[in-house]
Amino acid sequence: MIESFIFVFGAIAGSFLNVVIHRLPKGESLVKPASHCPHCHQPLRWYQNIPLLSFVFLRGRCAFCHAPVSVRYFFVEFISALVTLYSFSRFGFRPEFFLIVLLAYVLIAVSFIDLDVLLIPDRILLLFVIFFLVYNVIFEVRSWRFVMSGALITGITLYALALLSRFVLRKDGLGLGDVKLMSAAGLVIGWKFSLLAFYTGAVMVLVFAAIMRLGSFRFQAGLVPFGPFLSLSTLIFIFFGDSIANVYLNLF
Ligand SMILES: [Zn+2]
Repeated sequence: MIESFIFVFGAIAGSFLNVVIHRLPKGESLVKPASHCPHCHQPLRWYQNIPLLSFVFLRGRCAFCHAPVSVRYFFVEFISALVTLYSFSRFGFRPEFFLIVLLAYVLIAVSFIDLDVLLIPDRILLLFVIFFLVYNVIFEVRSWRFVMSGALITGITLYALALLSRFVLRKDGLGLGDVKLMSAAGLVIGWKFSLLAFYTGAVMVLVFAAIMRLGSFRFQAGLVPFGPFLSLSTLIFIFFGDSIANVYLNLF
């Protein structure tokens, strides 16, 4: 029973993430105007704006102009609901739960914004960092030593790597947005996991780019956004970092 509440809560959060993803990069207000069809601009009625369900009932089309609605809206709501439910099953109602869920929401929003505009907005990361610091003062979820080393060692290492890759490649191989994203994640998961998540994300993006090249499919401006890969690998390390580390250290 409580699980269905948590799932619905996650879907509603995902619905808000959709708004953030679409409006924040354009500098639009997150609250006004109310949700509307991006095609015919008709404001949605409440029953056309129910997370997950409306998309299914309207069969992915606007009720007014029948323009197709991107399946991404549904996808964002669905993964938000799943991640929320899974975090709950792992942590229950502990302070850790809200922290992990919020970081997951940040990662989801950042992924899709990076896909759209090839940029990770500072504002989201800054808000998260401020929230985290206040939250940790109140609930002491992480030791301050863990938190500070998590952000600083990750930040300094990746910034050095960014400078190095710019020197070698003569262009930006690693964006500062990616460095800031992983430093913010480092606050929560510590520098060991955040650096491992970074390297894992780097391998994933290289494999993906290689597959794309074989299919002679090119991303806009020839750039593959790094944010979604970093976010995915960070999520993997949030939930399975300990198991991965154990397996790795006990190989052979
Ligand atoms: Zn419409």
